[in-house]
Amino acid sequence: MSATQSEYLRPKDLRAALEHKAATPDARFIAGGTDLLVHARRPGATLPQSLISLRAVAELNEVTVVGATLRIGAAAPLTEVARHPVIAERLPALVASIDVLGSRQIRNVATLGGNLCNASPAADTAPPLLVHDARVELQHVGGRREVPLVEFFRGPGETAIEANEVMTAVLLELPPPNAEAAFERKGRVRMDLAIAIVAGLFELDGSVVRRARVAAGAVAPLPLRLTEVEERLTGSELDDDVIAEARRLTTEAISPISDLRSSADYRRHLTGVFVERMLHGVAGSSVTGRPGA
Ligand SMILES: Cc1cc2nc3c(=O)[nH]c(=O)nc-3n(C[C@H](O)[C@H](O)[C@H](O)COP(=O)(O)OP(=O)(O)OC[C@H]3O[C@@H](n4cnc5c(N)ncnc54)[C@H](O)[C@@H]3O)c2cc1C
Repeated sequence: MSATQSEYLRPKDLRAALEHKAATPDARFIAGGTDLLVHARRPGATLPQSLISLRAVAELNEVTVVGATLRIGAAAPLTEVARHPVIAERLPALVASIDVLGSRQIRNVATLGGNLCNASPAADTAPPLLVHDARVELQHVGGRREVPLVEFFRGPGETAIEANEVMTAVLLELPPPNAEAAFERKGRVRMDLAIAIVAGLFELDGSVVRRARVAAGAVAPLPLRLTEVEERLTGSELDDDVIAEARRLTTEAISPISDLRSSADYRRHLTGVFVERMLHGVAGSSVTGRPGA
């Protein structure tokens, strides 16, 4: 079936979108379309009979802050997300991940919800959201639920979302003002998916790590938290030995593959280097954020 034969609906409210989905199980939600339409053009692929656009659903496009809770509408374009004043000030790792995603044209239409629902192991926004303990809000005609992002990813292209659900928002608690965020990422060339991504969030008490959160992307079947690394860092001074051990634990925790972008060995090496560099940056009290290509 070609794109012109698909029914394209553009509901203005969430209820209409959910009711159509409930009545048409084969319908697919479409936000920016930068993944869905690319997949649909692959040889042998087809477009679903019915596409439900989320772009005109106002509540899915808003970014709001209530107390310390940030709520990012799942269909808000990435450019708007990165520009939001609270996000720009308080979430530098998320902003860095958006800055390197695709091109400006892609970021103007692509959405956070689409990046997460597409469930690529190399989704750029996943590691920074994981270190912020983000949750996703899922809704269907009968109700809503929240799922921790760390439980949302199930494997390449697979998530916890049910067939009748839409992702309505990404929720997270704003970090304390003194938390240090870091984002490291490497692609082969610009506008290509990453071959390795690392994000971190650290709270220090003097030179001792009080809380460490570290996540990686593109180096396992799903974006993941590096809990062994976090546990080793918590309560420790960031000296050379601790940093070297964190690097070793990182390379043991990931399971990269070799593909056309990189060998598994290089991905493993790069991820260890990223963690080491990030921790040296934190030890030197400088906020890192080297997004690379
Ligand atoms: C040239 C190019 C470069 C790219 N570079 C990068 C890159 O560097 N890094 C990167 O991570 N990605 C990259 N991408 C992939 C893509 O742009 C992102 O993943 C983007 O965030 C997808 O968002 P979208 O709104 O376009 O999703 P869509 O294509 O609209 O949707 C993607 C999938 O999610 C589902 N979906 C979307 N929104 C919802 C929702 N709210 N609820 C339920 N299901 C939903 C759709 O049904 C579909 O299955 C690139 C794509 C292109 C074409």
